[in-house]
Amino acid sequence: MIVVMKPGASEHEIRHTAERVESLGLKAHIIQGTERTVIAAIGEKRAEHKLSLESSPGVAEVVPILAPYKVASREVKKEPTVVTAGSLVVGNGQIGVIAGPCSVESEEQILISAQAVKAAGATALRGGAFKPRTSPYSFQGLKEQGLKLLAAAREATGLAIVTEVVATEDVDLVAKYSDVLQIGARNMQNYRLLEAAGKSGVPVLLKRGPSATMEELLLAAEYILDAGNPNVMLCERGIRTFETHTRFTLPLASVPYLRAKTHLPIVVDPSHGTGHTYLVPDMAAASVAAGADGLILEVHPDPENALSDGYQSLSFPQFAATMDRCRKVAQALDKKLGG
Ligand code: PEP
Ligand code: MN
Repeated sequence: MIVVMKPGASEHEIRHTAERVESLGLKAHIIQGTERTVIAAIGEKRAEHKLSLESSPGVAEVVPILAPYKVASREVKKEPTVVTAGSLVVGNGQIGVIAGPCSVESEEQILISAQAVKAAGATALRGGAFKPRTSPYSFQGLKEQGLKLLAAAREATGLAIVTEVVATEDVDLVAKYSDVLQIGARNMQNYRLLEAAGKSGVPVLLKRGPSATMEELLLAAEYILDAGNPNVMLCERGIRTFETHTRFTLPLASVPYLRAKTHLPIVVDPSHGTGHTYLVPDMAAASVAAGADGLILEVHPDPENALSDGYQSLSFPQFAATMDRCRKVAQALDKKLGG
């Protein structure tokens, strides 16, 4: 249920109502809007709860939340959520650009990547230190050493760090070195990991599982929100279909669909979404045109010799050219892309 407070309801009335929600055995999420405050009351609802809450001072009305996801839904919060993590701002007209190699490979590789993507306008650096690889024999990442190199690149450039956490027990370690925890496609439904990322309080980039529906993605986000972390970005990174001309199929209708259903910002990953460097610039521009609030792009100093995902990585000049194109599309929509 959503408890809608009257415009101008006092702090005391809001707090009192939230306490009443909790006393009914429901969880209260207070969401301050620009015009009014609502309290999402999450839990098993009963008819008498509505009547009882409607009698609290300062309450305008109590309405059901129809969507299966609650805190993530637009019904609860109409204003878009803007996620800010250091240099990265994603949402409400500001298109964040997260760029860098698939994996952190060496100090030199990550430092020159950070400098190059920053010069071209990226607002955050990506790079995997813990890599979820399909084969156990593939490069698994530099782990904590990789995290240290990312932190050094942040020190050198000021770029926020976005890096993947693959296991619940690594959340604290990854959070110590990064600004955004990436939860990868393969882990979208690892519910203990989602809860741990929620409890960390660090902003999260949640990638869509290759076979997850939009509803499953939003319910996965709900785990993080319900754990008390409001800073969640959703990432469309392509799904598995019968089609083989691309590594995954990148359904850009997800962007306006999610926009209609949720207040959370939406990021698109055209690198994994296509799996081919030559397709990335067009799909990046198309993502911006579709309304994406952010892009995550794989960029490598020497894609041919990358330890992972080189075949879908942009070189530095290709990234700079992609940024120029995307910036024009963003301007046409009265948005600002990158830094
Ligand atoms: C990545 O970003 O390098 C990655 C592994 O992405 P995904 O989880 O979308 O496959
Ligand atoms: Mn990758």
